Amino acid sequence: MGKLFSSKELYKLRNSIPIHVLIETQLGIPAKISEGVFRFLCPLCNEFQTAVNPRTNLSRCFRCEKNFNTIDMVMICRNTDFVSSVKYLQTILNPRESGHGT
Ligand SMILES: [Zn+2]
Repeated sequence: MGKLFSSKELYKLRNSIPIHVLIETQLGIPAKISEGVFRFLCPLCNEFQTAVNPRTNLSRCFRCEKNFNTIDMVMICRNTDFVSSVKYLQTILNPRESGHGT
């Protein structure tokens, strides 16, 4: 995998978009608040045994025993590769800039 994106840029994409907003609003994954916890339908096992951690901005499925960051979620839900998923997140973060300058 080449270095198409700087680690700083990837860090920003993983942390600047609240993961629950990405899940519910951008990706349209079914989600609900249960016992005060945001839960979403796991795209891998289709169960609601999930949670998000606002501190790390990761989502977790307890059944799959996996953590997903924003890029992982886009790759799984949109079935896109890493580069396309990063570009998708960039358009969410910078809706007015098409493409990315340096
Ligand atoms: Zn799962």
